[in-house]
Amino acid sequence: MSIIIRIPSALRRFTGESAAITTAASTVGEALSALVDEYPNLRTHLYTGEGALRSFVNVFVNDEDIRHAAGLSTPLTENDEVHIVPSIAGGSAAVEPVELSVDEIQRYSRHLLLPEVGIAGQRKLKAARVLLVGAGGLGSPLAMYLAAAGVGHLGIIDFDVVDHSNLQRQLLHGTKDVGRPKLESARDRVRDINPFVEVEGYEAALTASNALDILRGYDVVADGTDNFQSRYLVNDACVMLGIPNVYGSIFRFEGQASVFDARTGPCYRCLYPEPPPPGLVPSCAEGGVLGVLPGIVGSMQAIETIKLVLGQGSSLVGRLLLFDALDMRFRELKLRKNPACNLCGPNPTVTELVDYDAFCGIAPGPTADEIADVQARRGRGWELSPLELKAELDGGHPLFLLDVREPHEVEICSIPGTSATVPVGTLADRIGEIPGDAPIVTYCRSGVRSAKAFDTLRAAGLSNVRSLRGGILAWSRDIDPSVPQY
Ligand SMILES: [Zn+2]
Repeated sequence: MSIIIRIPSALRRFTGESAAITTAASTVGEALSALVDEYPNLRTHLYTGEGALRSFVNVFVNDEDIRHAAGLSTPLTENDEVHIVPSIAGGSAAVEPVELSVDEIQRYSRHLLLPEVGIAGQRKLKAARVLLVGAGGLGSPLAMYLAAAGVGHLGIIDFDVVDHSNLQRQLLHGTKDVGRPKLESARDRVRDINPFVEVEGYEAALTASNALDILRGYDVVADGTDNFQSRYLVNDACVMLGIPNVYGSIFRFEGQASVFDARTGPCYRCLYPEPPPPGLVPSCAEGGVLGVLPGIVGSMQAIETIKLVLGQGSSLVGRLLLFDALDMRFRELKLRKNPACNLCGPNPTVTELVDYDAFCGIAPGPTADEIADVQARRGRGWELSPLELKAELDGGHPLFLLDVREPHEVEICSIPGTSATVPVGTLADRIGEIPGDAPIVTYCRSGVRSAKAFDTLRAAGLSNVRSLRGGILAWSRDIDPSVPQY
């Protein structure tokens, strides 16, 4: 009689990606024999050398576990469905029957000497599937240490391109990689560290529509993202799929680390039910970050990931570790599961992935009408290009060149001929310092604060004001490359 065998995704690479196979069989044993006859590479994954079903392979007929029926002799009737369900050990790493080669045993000898790792632990590491969200500051030590430690399958998701300003902390990428996709340089670096590691790259942004598909099948997710939308997205997807989420975050001189696993402890929403309003917490791009800091926090995430795979030690589940690099001090906070958590509590209201930009209060970009409105209010010629500014400065025209950046930015560089420096946030209170008789040109780093300053000055009644388009970055690019870009 004709029955259907359902193949789990972990084994589909042995069945030419087929998810279901139809065959003729009257018992489960006959069905599985027919399966491995057709796909011989599956045999060692399902059977021991003695021909017994491997202990971690569970087989169900329709809804029933065959261990509670007649095992391999369980009879089948027409259109029955046989499901192969590989078990998950310790809630983390799927234990596949992997062996270590002589080369691998040599490579991992310092691990094998640790009773907490040993051959069994090293096999678990080899069988483990870990997904790194982001190949940046935190993703760098994560990818390098997990690869070196022998984690067999590393997924990396990143769509960014290496930039000069990344090199101060993102050691996966080198100077020669500037301009390349981060995924490519990460793959090269990991392959050089450990060719036994399989890297699966996803050159995409993680979104509500692809997150579940990408995360499904991983044993551990390590979150190295840098914005709240991604934090909530990774958390929610991990809770829905039952995957531990190894969390790390960095800002200026301070780092945080924890492990969120809703099955045994709190989730990220238990800690932060609502995101802070946009703009309250600046990003690393705005606030800066000590280059070594992600090295410390990402390494702690790598340790927690390895412990989860091994099932050793006490994880950071239920604890938030705070690290202050300026004072070189660690603190620890207890985290409790929030019984009213809208995601992992008993009465969840969040049951599917949502629009995380809207949840985090990030408005969609301005509409064409709104842009046209602002342009009309500012009038024609409210901006000038670096070339136009250069011509006016060279021509000796009277000009009040106003730098509206912060003092620590002024220390990095400024445009020669700058008349005054007034940070944009204090401009409204210091209008009296701005002379009203000369044309004013405002500038900042990239042109955004400068446009705000333009509006502030116009609102204060000054009429002859313009803003430098693209800021000092554009000046460096178009006029004077000796001015550093930061
Ligand atoms: Zn929760």
